[in-house]
Amino acid sequence: MEKGHILIVEDEEKIARVLQLELEYEGYKATIKETGTEGLHAALEEKFALVLLDVMLPGLSGLEVLRRLRKTDMHTPVILLTARDSIPDKVTGLDIGANDYVTKPFEIEELLARIRAALRQNGSASEDPGTFLSLGDLQVNEKTREVKRGDQEVELTPREFDLLVFLLKHPQQVLTREQILTSVWGFDYLGDTNVVDVYIRYIRKKLDYPYEKQLIHTVRGVGYAIKE
Ligand code: CA
Repeated sequence: MEKGHILIVEDEEKIARVLQLELEYEGYKATIKETGTEGLHAALEEKFALVLLDVMLPGLSGLEVLRRLRKTDMHTPVILLTARDSIPDKVTGLDIGANDYVTKPFEIEELLARIRAALRQNGSASEDPGTFLSLGDLQVNEKTREVKRGDQEVELTPREFDLLVFLLKHPQQVLTREQILTSVWGFDYLGDTNVVDVYIRYIRKKLDYPYEKQLIHTVRGVGYAIKE
């Protein structure tokens, strides 16, 4: 039985390949990305059971990847691969949301044990009823991705959902299109900021227009705010 899909972000080809083989041998599916940018992109686009993230990557460092990932994804467990002597990386990594770290060179058995522990922890966390975000009669369960206005369920696409969650985490604040774009679409999104307006229109159609009270407000020339 497949145990879950693990993303390996590691620029050292040999290490990445050994990790992949070991993980596949253990029954996981494993995908390799060799740069921070590609790794972040993959992690934002697809749901992985866990991410193994090398800290020393060319271009976007592992810590920067983690920081950007955690803006929208608080749940996917991340284990950092750090250099033996790099205490600051470990501390920063844990501070910004890594679940664990393994020091290179590592014993594969130890890494596998830490992967199992992180997955177990995440599994038991997902049995809790979830994190609720709410505003007025709007209720969002981040874990089950259920959205309700009053007692009516609202169906959102994954991107619409992520956009709504981002707004709800910054209530009353005026958010610029660029802020929204960076957080919801990712920093390396190449399209223009019009996509934000398009998606705001989509969620308004589902969430606001059918109801008396509008929650999403346009702030002319600046961006959008969610408030009662
Ligand atoms: Ca490296």
